[in-house]
Amino acid sequence: MRNDPLARLRRAAEARHAAGLRRTRRSRGPDHDGLLDLASNDYLGLARDPRVTGAAAEAARVWGAGSTGSRLVTGSTRLHAELEERLAAFAGSPDALVFSSGYLANLAAVAALGGRDALVVSDAGNHASIVDACRLSRSRVVVTPHRDVEAVEAALAGRPEEAALVVTDAVFSVDGDLAPLAALHDVAVRHGALLVVDEAHSLGVVGEGGRGAVAAAGLSASPYVVRTVTLSKSLGSQGGAVLGGPEVVQTLLDTGRSFIFDTGLAPACAGSALAALGIIESEPDLPARARDHAVKLAAYCAEIGLESNDPAAAVVPVFLGPPERALDAAARCADHGARVGCFRPPSVPPGRSCLRLTSRADLGPGDLEVIQRALRAVAEMGARP
Ligand code: PMP
Repeated sequence: MRNDPLARLRRAAEARHAAGLRRTRRSRGPDHDGLLDLASNDYLGLARDPRVTGAAAEAARVWGAGSTGSRLVTGSTRLHAELEERLAAFAGSPDALVFSSGYLANLAAVAALGGRDALVVSDAGNHASIVDACRLSRSRVVVTPHRDVEAVEAALAGRPEEAALVVTDAVFSVDGDLAPLAALHDVAVRHGALLVVDEAHSLGVVGEGGRGAVAAAGLSASPYVVRTVTLSKSLGSQGGAVLGGPEVVQTLLDTGRSFIFDTGLAPACAGSALAALGIIESEPDLPARARDHAVKLAAYCAEIGLESNDPAAAVVPVFLGPPERALDAAARCADHGARVGCFRPPSVPPGRSCLRLTSRADLGPGDLEVIQRALRAVAEMGARP
């Protein structure tokens, strides 16, 4: 065959693999195959909590395995309404709109609140779902250097467009650092822009009782802040939501394509997220425990000469440089009993391949010892030529 289309795919795959960028699906058992889980986003250890799994089972029994339709047809049950109310109340937002993933919540928030006549200013470290959302919005997009408020202000001040959005992760998903939310809010409001904050890694972890980074920055009451969240990390479920005021929610209801054309969140996910919210409210020290463990992990990295960051939430990166080195380090961690995340381009910029360790509220002293042994094995790699 002339121009075999599969040969093209094979050549591209060979080039990726030669550069250390082969990806594999590794299926795990329910106990992480006996490894300590430091790779998931189950920050509060709620995904397997019997109160949460029980609520999932009960919701499926009452409401069905699927939601049976899109949110504007049959996919909005009273369970979804209750979840929206409880999420909004927990975060101190006027309203919330639940999506079937955080990815889709970001797509809707940026695409529906932006548009052809708007400017979107996006941090260079933002999650892939925000990058895709920017593209989908058809707005002019300015990507600003990481955490650079002056660059955001320059983009807003010099714009010909009337409408503008500033969009940022609250806690960056790989580097684990915090966006300068108060300064971004100030700049956004002075220049007539909305501030869209992705709280995927901060809801349930950052701030008093885990109410998130926007709340911790004292910005919950600002009508110009829109929050996106996922139910798949600290809440141990799946799904997403956009939190905001009436103008924002109505815009998404009327025009948010990933809200309108997607089947509503599965009832089991809504039920389990509600149970998880109840646990966080009744055990308000859980978020601080996850954060404390992250601080301990980062401090240990510093002690043994591994490059990390000051963690703002539960994400602790260990920067290693080339992708092969990160793969080697992840394999060593597994050999020492710990499963860690391994991030390579395009998930991170070239030269910034790293391990991503995630702390959990339910790590015990024995677990911390396992991690320290694994990290020592990674540090010893540096001693080799
Ligand atoms: N935003 C950020 C910052 C994320 O890290 C993720 C998930 N990795 C998402 C959004 C997407 O959320 P979900 O997995 O619920 O689609």
